[in-house]
Amino acid sequence: MKSSIAVDLAASTFGEVQGTNYDIAILPWGATEPHNRHLPYLTDCILSHDVAVDAARLALQQYDVKTMVLPPVMMGAQNPGQRELPFCLHYRQRTQQAILSDIVESLFHQGIHKLLIVNGHGGNTLKGFVRDLLVDYPSMFILISDWYAVLPAKEYFDDPGDHADELETSAMLHYHPELVRMDLAGDGSSHPFTLPSLRQKTAWLPRHWNLVSDDTGIGNPGLATAEKGARHTHDVAQRYADLLRDLAAVNEATELYEH
Ligand SMILES: [Zn+2]
Repeated sequence: MKSSIAVDLAASTFGEVQGTNYDIAILPWGATEPHNRHLPYLTDCILSHDVAVDAARLALQQYDVKTMVLPPVMMGAQNPGQRELPFCLHYRQRTQQAILSDIVESLFHQGIHKLLIVNGHGGNTLKGFVRDLLVDYPSMFILISDWYAVLPAKEYFDDPGDHADELETSAMLHYHPELVRMDLAGDGSSHPFTLPSLRQKTAWLPRHWNLVSDDTGIGNPGLATAEKGARHTHDVAQRYADLLRDLAAVNEATELYEH
């Protein structure tokens, strides 16, 4: 029975997983950080996980592709002015790299050679880790996607921002309304750079979070609704389901390119 195949490892037993040959694993990757005053610290973990589970279910139902969603990684990279906030946890690049390397090594030896990392935290920069991993595991397929950026936010939201904003708040209202404290929400207003060259994005530097935002949010959550979140996350999950279908059909890197 297709519908009985487990796709969410956090809620699965060995008895349910044993005997199924999974095509692909998904690793949700978030952070442990404040999200304005109204969303939980684990918002980036929860949303990347929940969208991934929706995608895995769709891929199973529509394409018979068997995907396992791993428990989310809570270890995210933080900017100056964030780690000073209570319980905001900064993990160094080397720690994140060690975590990913151990996960990939385990999957490889279990015969699971396709991994999609669904990232939920803008401060995570994981591409270099994947380039290094492909030196050691050249036959693996390791992909990265920021779930919140798969589709244009402006097509789903009235006033999207970039942290604990209308997009993230809508998604949380859809999946976990019991975890959202709209009565505590700040307006997510932010302070632009004074230097014109930084406003023009001539160069990047990590924004000092305590100076750019008063409530840790960037973007007003006030217009968020569960309906907007449902529509957006469903469409993202469908995109991922289509990706899982495509990825499941590939065996060699040469198949990825037209010749
Ligand atoms: Zn977030």
